[in-house]
Amino acid sequence: MHSNQYAITEVKQIINAGGQIVKEYTINTLFTDSRRINNPAEGLFFALSGRRNGHEFVAEAYAAGVRNFVVEYGPEFNLPEANFLIVDDPLAAMQALAAYHRSRFDLQVIGITGSNGKTIVKEWLYQLLAADKNIVRNPKSYNSQIGVPLSVWQINGRNDLGIFEAGISTINEMDKLEAIIKPQVGVLTHIGTAHDEGFKDRREKMLEKLQLFRHCEKLIYNYDQLLNFQADIKARETFTWSRKMNQADLYVFSETVIAKSYYLRAQYQKREIECLIPFADEASVENAIICWATMLALGYSPVEADKRIERLAPVSMRLELKTGVNNCSVIDDSYNSDLQSLEIALNFLGQQNQHQKKTLILSDIYQSGLQQDELYRQVANLISSKKVDKFVGVGEALMAYEHFFNVAEQHFFKDTAAMLQQLRQLNFKEETILIKGSRSFEFERISRALAQKAHETILEINLNTLLSNLNFYKSKIEPGVKVMAMVKAFSYGSGTFEVANMLQYNKVDYLAVAYIDEGVSLRQAGINLPVIVLNPEASAFDKVIEYKLEPAIYSFGLLDDFVGYALDRNISNYPVHLKIDTGMHRLGFENHEIETLCDMLEQNRYVRIQSVFSHLAASEASKHDGFTQTQIKRFEKAFKEIEKTLGYKVIKHLCNTAGIIRWPSAHYDMVRLGIGLYGVDSAVSIKETDLQPIASLKTSIAQVKKIKGGDTISYGRSGKLKKDGKIATVRIGYADGYLRAFGNGIGKMLVKGTLVPTVGNITMDMCMLDVSGLDVREGDEVIVFDEQHQRIEELARQIGTIPYEILTNVSQRVKRVYFYE
Ligand SMILES: *Cc1c(COP(=O)(O)O)cnc(C)c1O
Repeated sequence: MHSNQYAITEVKQIINAGGQIVKEYTINTLFTDSRRINNPAEGLFFALSGRRNGHEFVAEAYAAGVRNFVVEYGPEFNLPEANFLIVDDPLAAMQALAAYHRSRFDLQVIGITGSNGKTIVKEWLYQLLAADKNIVRNPKSYNSQIGVPLSVWQINGRNDLGIFEAGISTINEMDKLEAIIKPQVGVLTHIGTAHDEGFKDRREKMLEKLQLFRHCEKLIYNYDQLLNFQADIKARETFTWSRKMNQADLYVFSETVIAKSYYLRAQYQKREIECLIPFADEASVENAIICWATMLALGYSPVEADKRIERLAPVSMRLELKTGVNNCSVIDDSYNSDLQSLEIALNFLGQQNQHQKKTLILSDIYQSGLQQDELYRQVANLISSKKVDKFVGVGEALMAYEHFFNVAEQHFFKDTAAMLQQLRQLNFKEETILIKGSRSFEFERISRALAQKAHETILEINLNTLLSNLNFYKSKIEPGVKVMAMVKAFSYGSGTFEVANMLQYNKVDYLAVAYIDEGVSLRQAGINLPVIVLNPEASAFDKVIEYKLEPAIYSFGLLDDFVGYALDRNISNYPVHLKIDTGMHRLGFENHEIETLCDMLEQNRYVRIQSVFSHLAASEASKHDGFTQTQIKRFEKAFKEIEKTLGYKVIKHLCNTAGIIRWPSAHYDMVRLGIGLYGVDSAVSIKETDLQPIASLKTSIAQVKKIKGGDTISYGRSGKLKKDGKIATVRIGYADGYLRAFGNGIGKMLVKGTLVPTVGNITMDMCMLDVSGLDVREGDEVIVFDEQHQRIEELARQIGTIPYEILTNVSQRVKRVYFYE
């Protein structure tokens, strides 16, 4: 994002800001997140107000070296040599600066919007056009009100094509993005139901999207999709495509699957043309047709378009975090490489605390739009501004610029093969390794060598969804109410440090585990948030102290034990939490015991009561609301007495996930967020797209067999097909957590888009599915649950249990793979 230089006085004028310039600086980088700062000396920090008020982070950004700020109010920040530009709306100022920057360049710009496929179409057009254009585009899917200005800011004098996507979720947003992107060519991708809830109706949503194209010279779109919007198309010229209507400029009239490719024939300018797409799934085919239409609309010949489309490569915007050899963690981003995505990946590396050592394996970067020496100087600066302990550079360019780099341990190789030959000597061990390479370097070979071989059943965890679920609940509580995230039982089966790192980086206030060992694991993985242990064992108090864990005290016996332990070791004021039993009848002091408890706490200098809490037995169920109210009353009575005795305030907390939504009056000082974080909440309707399950359980087909009607299948000869058919044996059994109760047709799995039933008993490591009539092969993916096709709630219903049990049952032998975009 370093490509531009503006004097700060000039910036002040452009955004029409108040405030004093106390010192002149040159600006070339824009920041909105104080945790992600590099090149601070030339940075400009925008204090945006979102869920957190950006002004709270000004001091942090200053400490990181930033001296220039755009703020809404000030200048009570007493920071020497810093400039504060004061505006009404820092986001609008950032957008205005980006729009000004855009207006200085007269490159061709393609603007893309739609509900689905924007990022894929953008990345594919980049792949298709990079041979003859110097292209600037959004990093990843930076397509929001904040992402678009940051993307456009990267335009530099060498670019002759910009490809920018714009995403909106409600009305009056596209106007602003249009003014920044100013596209001359528009591309509309698939319009689906995403974000429907932000609009009055479909028509309103469509009209808002079309705003992006209002000054376009040319618009490329699906003919069928805009049939009712002809009058609303402002573009001077159009290029339409269709798979149904022969009036379209590009009319696809024949589609054939050939192995894993897709062969299209179409009518174009009164002749027949063809195209081979190296993908066969529906979404990819549609996105590829959009790219095909765009290339033709831009004047490429059908032959050239076909030649390039045939070589399209899959786009992955996700980083994968997985377990590696020798106790390493591997972050796999081996599909693309440019400065911006390198920065994003390095930030993710920086969030990881599980190993001391952080390693980057990087290939040469292509098509950056920068001169080589400038590019690698920037790469070297970026790496030195992030904490990287070991650097492996692969490629001739990196070798040539070796002298730019000064990482404590560094190695350079001319190509991937040379590096793989030296793999043993590189001695990867107990480190977090980021693998980032341009496609042609085939870094997937490195990733295969370093990542532990995955058993073919994996639980995929989407860390972005975890974050958006967290934010969903934060939006349901008052500012100032703290969040304790429940990470007991391996974060409900979703992982230990991977989940905790994410929560720590995004500033939850507390973590909670059930047992001391779980707390120890978090500390060993570098987690330094306060951790409460709900069920501490007296035999392991040493570890409580050593690892600074905070025990929940629920009985007189435990209080005695802990106070005795503290007394023997001269410990005073140790933070502990008091658990009150207001009706759950599991653990905790009952109301009639509070008086005695208070007597014991009076003058007790060994512990300090950090919080008082209780647990609701049926917060989700309206038929028990009377009982919940009783629990609330008992809780209030208890904590009032305790606070009076102590003479100081404690943190009070009662609500679990369902309580957060259903009992807003009982949030007190903190809420304990459990299953909702993982995307399940009976108090939230499944249609609320703000809440999504974070985990998908996937396996694969080991064998396909033809079975005669009446033949029996599995142990006890329990299964049978009614007539001749086919079964698939898949690699998941009850030892993986797919319980026997799912056998004999009770459970279903998704194969090739179809839900098929189990047949026969589930065995320890395998089970059988009835796939009669389906075209399935060995190795095909099988989805046990995910957010789209069959949710955890549905599995729970099939065997009469609750989602909690389905999640925590997934056994530890099932590999977890984490995704982050
Ligand atoms: C597990 C647990 C929670 C979280 O409950 P959810 O329903 O998963 O939100 C909260 N409080 C206590 C004491 C717990 O044990």
